[in-house]
Amino acid sequence: MVREGWCLRVPKSVGEKQRLQLLREGRLDTSLLLRRDGADLLLPVKEPCGGCERALFEEVPERPDLPRHDLVGGIAVLLEPDAGVRGAELLLGSRPSIHTVLLPEGPVEGEFRTRRFSVLAGTPTTRTSYTEYGLRFEIDLSLAYFSPRLSGERQRVLGLMGKGERVLDMFAGVGPFAITLAPRAGIIYAADINPGAVGLMLANIALNRAGNILPLLADAARLPGILPPGFDRVVMNLPFGAVGFLDAALALCRPGGAIHLYAMVGEEGALAPVIREKGCRILGERVVHTYSPGEWLAVYDLRVE
Ligand code: SAM
Repeated sequence: MVREGWCLRVPKSVGEKQRLQLLREGRLDTSLLLRRDGADLLLPVKEPCGGCERALFEEVPERPDLPRHDLVGGIAVLLEPDAGVRGAELLLGSRPSIHTVLLPEGPVEGEFRTRRFSVLAGTPTTRTSYTEYGLRFEIDLSLAYFSPRLSGERQRVLGLMGKGERVLDMFAGVGPFAITLAPRAGIIYAADINPGAVGLMLANIALNRAGNILPLLADAARLPGILPPGFDRVVMNLPFGAVGFLDAALALCRPGGAIHLYAMVGEEGALAPVIREKGCRILGERVVHTYSPGEWLAVYDLRVE
């Protein structure tokens, strides 16, 4: 839509400076798009002022409020079920990269930590490609767990690593921790009990040419009977059950080695007594993200004593 309004005519060379000045003073009319006129810029203003003139402007198109969602590659996962098909279609049209909008049909559940979805808009698939810090991942949200919310954590752990470490990822999923840590590691053993996750992990190892990762389809509880001990670092990302596998991690981690244990807690220090009882020193406890009111994902950085 085109609308007539007041504007200030300024040379292009000082246009951005003037625009910011008007914005700071609250005088810029942000409902209209500024435009060029020869060597000048026309900056729309809310009120007539000295030196102002009238001109025609395009109106800024209204941006519909998008429903809350998580974005995993080309898939938007709706966090507001009430948004319905209309909200899903708005999301689909909001970015060219979104190919599918999914609605969760239930919570993350079961041993594989997966959930069911219905497709509300776009291509009927739960599979997508996702890029994180230059690494590429094939994801299938109904086949294997994946959360982009841990991307910062993966980088943090990478920053703590020494060159050439022997690393164990006990609950590796499609491999995001293992593949992030691989460039600094000597070798990484990455286990998961879900064959779908291990299949995707194999594809992701190949995609990222992470030749020092050994994927294992295995129950983490059985790893002490399969793997040689002496790991420098163990990642335990099973937020509702990692503590139950701490004995297995301790059997595999060398004295002085590091364990990163992710757990859902509702109180700071909730797991400290049980962790200390197992013979670990807590180097730090941090909030990764909130999960529900009064409950958050915490990471405990541990040193094996
Ligand atoms: N680390 C991955 C990530 O950050 O995306 C996946 C984490 S997901 C919360 C937990 C993973 O642990 C799931 O892929 C699930 O299949 C796997 N899992 C659950 N119980 C397991 C067990 N006993 N042994 C090995 N893997 C297990």
